[in-house]
Amino acid sequence: MAQLLLKGHPIGTIHGVLFDKDGTLSHSEPHLLDLAERRISAAVDLWSATRGTPTKDLRHLLSRAFGLHNEALHPGGTLAVAARQDNLTSTATVFCLLGCSWAEGLALADRCFNSVDQQPIGQPDSSPLMEHAATVIRQLHAGGVQLAVISNDTRLGIQNFLDHHAVSNLFSDSWSADDTPRKPDPEAVHQLCNRMNLEPELCALIGDAETDLSMARQAGIGCVIGYRGGWTLPPVLPSAPHLLDHWRDLGLNANP
Ligand SMILES: [Mg+2]
Repeated sequence: MAQLLLKGHPIGTIHGVLFDKDGTLSHSEPHLLDLAERRISAAVDLWSATRGTPTKDLRHLLSRAFGLHNEALHPGGTLAVAARQDNLTSTATVFCLLGCSWAEGLALADRCFNSVDQQPIGQPDSSPLMEHAATVIRQLHAGGVQLAVISNDTRLGIQNFLDHHAVSNLFSDSWSADDTPRKPDPEAVHQLCNRMNLEPELCALIGDAETDLSMARQAGIGCVIGYRGGWTLPPVLPSAPHLLDHWRDLGLNANP
């Protein structure tokens, strides 16, 4: 039995910790801003090539759909929180708002996303770990706490990220967008805990999205923690009983 500490105060007895990845362990905002711009530019180019001059609404609507605010990304927006397929559906919906049929919108969105996927870009898997996160991960593992990632990134994306930061051997398992059901279905938490022989009430879940935290509460997670340190615009997390602004504030008492 270990006790999780927030700013030195015990907040729960835990056997396991489930971490969200993007915006929680990974400093993802710069990569996601770049991805948003690439998808918007590809959409504008594709629209020009197939349907004529795009209205200025196209860029504006896509920016809104992805959750762009000036130079920052809405931490609860579609690009920050949802899977690739959800963002593709949002893009197809924007095309429909500008006059496409659903079939045309979906086909255009698919071409747009595929063209961006084929562009040579920096590796998103090498996004930096949040400051001090590696120290917390090592401390939890050394204290006998089982660790897992629960993310809407692909299985390969999660593995590459953990490998890149040389922490994959500290994690027992992960739940990705390739698993069914995907986050934020509470069943994703149940199945992951089941696979690791963990009781949800003896686990903490740490995430930066309201959807993560309400999922955790519905799944019966004992210690639900909202992480706010990963974004230019701090996320609003009303479902979080505990808020973490910096990884150095989290600690462990391995022998309470
Ligand atoms: Mg996240």
